[in-house]
Amino acid sequence: MTTRTTTADTAAARATVYGYPRQGPNRELKKAIEGYWKGRVDGDALRATAAELRRSAWQELAASGIDEVPTGDFSYYDHVLDTTVMVGAVPERHRAAVAADALDGYFAMARGTEDVAPLEMTKWFDTNYHYLVPELGPDTVFTTDSTKQVAELREALALGLDTRPVLVGPVTYLLLSKPAPGVADDFDPLTLLDRLLPVYAEVLSDLRASGAAWVQLDEPALVQDRTPAELNSAARAYRDLGSLADRPKLLVASYFDRLGEALPVLAKAPVDGLALDFTGSAAANLEELAAVGGLSGKRLVAGVVNGRNIWVNDLEWSLATLGTLLGLADRVDVATSCSLLHVPLDASVERDIEPQIRRWLAFARQKTAEVATLTKGLTRGTGVIGAELAANRAALNSRATSPITHDPAVRARAAAVTEHDGRRSQPYAERTAAQRALLNLPLLPTTTIGSFPQTGELRAARADLRAGRIDTAGYEDRIRNEIHEVVSFQEKAGIDVLVHGEPERNDMVQYFAEQLGGYLATQHGWVQSYGTRYVRPPVLAGDISRPEPMTVRWTTYAQSLSGRPVKGMLTGPVTMLAWSFVRDDQPLGDTARQVALALRDEVDDLEANGTSVIQVDEPALRETLPLRATDHAAYLDWATEAFRLTTSGVRPDTQIHTHMCYAEFGDIVQAIDDLDADVISLEAARSHMQVAHELAAHGYPREAGPGVYDIHSPRVPSVDEATTLLRTGLEAIPAERLWVNPDCGLKTRGWAETRASLEHLVAAARIVRAEL
Ligand code: GLN
Ligand code: ZN
Repeated sequence: MTTRTTTADTAAARATVYGYPRQGPNRELKKAIEGYWKGRVDGDALRATAAELRRSAWQELAASGIDEVPTGDFSYYDHVLDTTVMVGAVPERHRAAVAADALDGYFAMARGTEDVAPLEMTKWFDTNYHYLVPELGPDTVFTTDSTKQVAELREALALGLDTRPVLVGPVTYLLLSKPAPGVADDFDPLTLLDRLLPVYAEVLSDLRASGAAWVQLDEPALVQDRTPAELNSAARAYRDLGSLADRPKLLVASYFDRLGEALPVLAKAPVDGLALDFTGSAAANLEELAAVGGLSGKRLVAGVVNGRNIWVNDLEWSLATLGTLLGLADRVDVATSCSLLHVPLDASVERDIEPQIRRWLAFARQKTAEVATLTKGLTRGTGVIGAELAANRAALNSRATSPITHDPAVRARAAAVTEHDGRRSQPYAERTAAQRALLNLPLLPTTTIGSFPQTGELRAARADLRAGRIDTAGYEDRIRNEIHEVVSFQEKAGIDVLVHGEPERNDMVQYFAEQLGGYLATQHGWVQSYGTRYVRPPVLAGDISRPEPMTVRWTTYAQSLSGRPVKGMLTGPVTMLAWSFVRDDQPLGDTARQVALALRDEVDDLEANGTSVIQVDEPALRETLPLRATDHAAYLDWATEAFRLTTSGVRPDTQIHTHMCYAEFGDIVQAIDDLDADVISLEAARSHMQVAHELAAHGYPREAGPGVYDIHSPRVPSVDEATTLLRTGLEAIPAERLWVNPDCGLKTRGWAETRASLEHLVAAARIVRAEL
């Protein structure tokens, strides 16, 4: 392999990353912050823990061969919130709290207080990290507060480290913002750019004065489809910042996809370097970079190690890519594709994963080592990394040839799938008549989304089982008791289609992942979801099979207790993928199809055991939509196929439900229709049934249950409120097709409010039925 050319200064290749897991090896940060909230840890102790975690992360990075460590990526809660503080965009309602105490005010913005609501939280691009959405308006005045950025830079410099502060860039910051409450919906935060740039100029100057040679400005929003006006704003921003007299060198970073039309804009900007992602769908950056004639005069930081999957890198591929890039920039450095925030810390501590498989995995520490190895190879020739290359090749070979990744039975079945397998035997209109005859439900049937309160006792029972304090039989007794209670409550409350309440599930993805073949669980693989909430996504590591039924006995047990239909409850294939780490050695659609076939067997078994209503939840269908519109059709194709494959094996009179939450659905109504489900339940209570109108506007022909009870708050909706929402729903969806249900599952709610809310919901259904 040749990785040498003459254009660039290869002797100077440097290794870097843009961010590192924040929590510490044993989630020390989570414990300290939550202790602070409870008053058990004081502010100084929290700050000391945080400083110690930063120090050890930086020193660990440096020791493993990272030449330039990032600063400023650390956060007590969220880096977008930190940016809001940096630019002084504290919402009016939080000003008093921030003035009284900066740290408490910060947490008030993140979590709200008894009196004020927090900032809204939403997903950071297509990751499972959530950021706090800045609220801006025409009256927003920005002010500079570079305290955090400067302090963290100084800490790292004091350790003798070479560092590069990392900031959310001004264009991305504005593009991620929304109009503040009371500001018109059509207010465009990007109109504030001219006001914001002087603040960034000041921060840059402060960082320069404190010793930063380089500063990184992250502009991931530029990998999304952008209007010419937005691209012009980006051009203006970097022309202005680039022309500042007193500034550090500027590195503009993008990740998660290709830059597309934004690449020529940034390539032309008077900044000193670009950091580009070359992994996955962002690999197209390579041709796009060649098409603009490379980055002459600039530094290129090449993200060749995927920063958001958990798989070992293909070092030879990366070296080849770096070799090509050497011809396209003045200087090429090596990095992960994005911050390592999105992966767990260390694969080597996963003692429950066989060493054979563990070597396929690369978490933050392993990825850091890969970056260092590649840098060494790029600078000094591949000879010096011979051992690493050999080990890497062996790991990749072992993965490529393993029976875990290649189960002939699973592969043969997936290959034999035909269009016919993904189609119900009768069209919706005919099925619905058969279902009506079988189920014999009233108009406006009432149901719930699946889970009932996950009480402390249930969690304690699971902990007791794990710790061996009770045996499986004892645990299952407790689960059956819970199901009994849930069923009898629903009957008494007058709900029409019952659920078993999901008491046996720790999590809607993990529960299934633990039972499917080909899935791995980690013990310590925590990644930040938001704030102090960390999740341990399971790993889709191999071909997926279902050794035995997963839910049938609980659902049939519940059905045995009632004459009313009990709805079976499964997590759909797209959501299983979205909330797991996915394979990178085959197209996502192939993995989705394998999961779908495993779930299809479960659906068929439920039906065979007397379940006539089966819900397959797909809350992640909308959120997994690719960042670029040109990629939507291909995604929706395999995603809807996977759902249909899961659900099409049943008789016409078996009713298939699906459920989705948290989203605007306007742009995927066609895809929702393509699922060919019989009934869909959606979150709608907070938006006054807006989704019902969106469905109607698109001529959605099926039955739907827009939620009439906002389950995100302990508030009990009154009968009146639910009645009003239901009447609004009826304006969009005719009574023959309207269901009555909450927005989402009740697992986070307490029993008292659940009981009252569901009784009100049934009362509202009865009132509105009587008006029909
Ligand atoms: N059936 C699941 C529940 O009720 C659905 C959860 C979800 O949509 N996120 O909890
Ligand atoms: Zn939901």
